[in-house]
Amino acid sequence: MAKDQFEVVVIGGGAAGVAAARRLRDAGLDALLVEARDRLGGRAWTKEVAGFALDLGCGWLHSADVNPWREIAERRGLAVDRTPPPWSRPQAQTGFSKAEQSAFIETLMRFRNRADAAGEDGPDRPAAALLLKSDERWRPMLDAISTFYSGAELDRVSVQDLARYEDTGVNWRLASGYGALVAVYGAGLPTRLGCPVERIDRRGRRLRLETPDGPIVADAAIVTLPSDVIAAKPSLFLPALPDKTEAAAGLPLGLADKLFLSLAEPEQFEKDSRCFGRTDRAGTAAYHLRPFGRPMIESYFGGALAAELEKGGEQSFFECAAEELVGLFGADFRRRIKPLAYHGWAADPFARGSYSYALPGKADCRAALAAPVDNRLFFAGEACSREDFSTAHGAYRTGMAAAEQAIAALRGAKAAAQTRGANVSTIE
Ligand SMILES: Cc1cc2nc3c(=O)[nH]c(=O)nc-3n(C[C@H](O)[C@H](O)[C@H](O)COP(=O)(O)OP(=O)(O)OC[C@H]3O[C@@H](n4cnc5c(N)ncnc54)[C@H](O)[C@@H]3O)c2cc1C
Repeated sequence: MAKDQFEVVVIGGGAAGVAAARRLRDAGLDALLVEARDRLGGRAWTKEVAGFALDLGCGWLHSADVNPWREIAERRGLAVDRTPPPWSRPQAQTGFSKAEQSAFIETLMRFRNRADAAGEDGPDRPAAALLLKSDERWRPMLDAISTFYSGAELDRVSVQDLARYEDTGVNWRLASGYGALVAVYGAGLPTRLGCPVERIDRRGRRLRLETPDGPIVADAAIVTLPSDVIAAKPSLFLPALPDKTEAAAGLPLGLADKLFLSLAEPEQFEKDSRCFGRTDRAGTAAYHLRPFGRPMIESYFGGALAAELEKGGEQSFFECAAEELVGLFGADFRRRIKPLAYHGWAADPFARGSYSYALPGKADCRAALAAPVDNRLFFAGEACSREDFSTAHGAYRTGMAAAEQAIAALRGAKAAAQTRGANVSTIE
């Protein structure tokens, strides 16, 4: 029979859960990682297709110069690709002149500066409230960028939260896959895969986690579930934790979906270049041409467009990409592309979206979601991060922080029990 008693259980084996479980093991605690899927990594997921490692979730080591995953990759001897990201260079795009690109970048920078300033003082508001009349020409593209960045259009996103996000501006990649790195970092840890936790019963002296494989009992648990998964299931906690459910609901997961396309005659394009499908509407995709020099296109869809396309699955994404690319490169282009790999993150029951943003007025929900309960229920995951939210390195850092909290709580409890024991024997 499988062991069912542990000091700590980590719920969810994504970047946060894997980091937490490793830290607990290194501290010598008896910990179990419980994951609903049949793989580790969660929203970090590398799929091998046609001999290439394709990241269907996170791909960029954002803030790569200080990113703990970059350090882990280097310690493992993995090559870190330092090619500057395509969005940092002018685009080779028909219908979007260099002058227009400069005008757009300037508008975007001015908007971001306004958001940073507005986030620091004054009441919170939707990011769209900062748009000026002079931004009108670029409004569709500002919204499109917001759907890639936050997974949602500007009218849904909190300015305060946006302003708190920190980024060193260094973005690198792993040809071997970001998801593969997260999964391998968790390999060898005591883990139960394919085991969704359905309820966390905290009525007794020890926590009791209900799963289809039977209960698991623990002194403490670290919950790393995506915010939308927590918000959708108030019955996850017994007794309920309405503050947690409400905090999670203030931090919905925005939507970003990738569709990889194979590309015939790739030489037409510069390696690692980029174009937008359209510059006159918010519902458009960004196309990363020849990532790592590979004969393919990584198409990125966000926000309302991605939500709409998910209703029709991969074929709808392909049709949208084909229409936009034909619009840019001519009717003949369609025969040069074929779908290679796709994942719809909104339809994924163990994610329900891609990465969190805060609704206007809800930026402080991140701290509320991260706060421990009864010094035995701890919280981690990208949505819990004040300044690294929506990223895999933010998830890692929250996992480490929650593990430290759990270690301190259990050591404190052990020390208290020993003192009690000593006092009893002194009295005897
Ligand atoms: C398309 C896309 C592109 C992205 N691009 C980037 C990028 O370039 N750079 C970057 O840094 N980040 C990016 N991200 C975001 C990044 O992937 C996430 O922020 C990060 O991986 C989240 O890690 P996590 O541990 O917080 O959550 P998750 O990875 O979601 O982990 C939570 C785990 O809980 C599991 N789970 C769910 N329900 C249960 C249950 N009931 N019981 C047990 N387990 C359960 C899930 O299966 C999952 O494994 C991207 C995400 C997507 C989807």
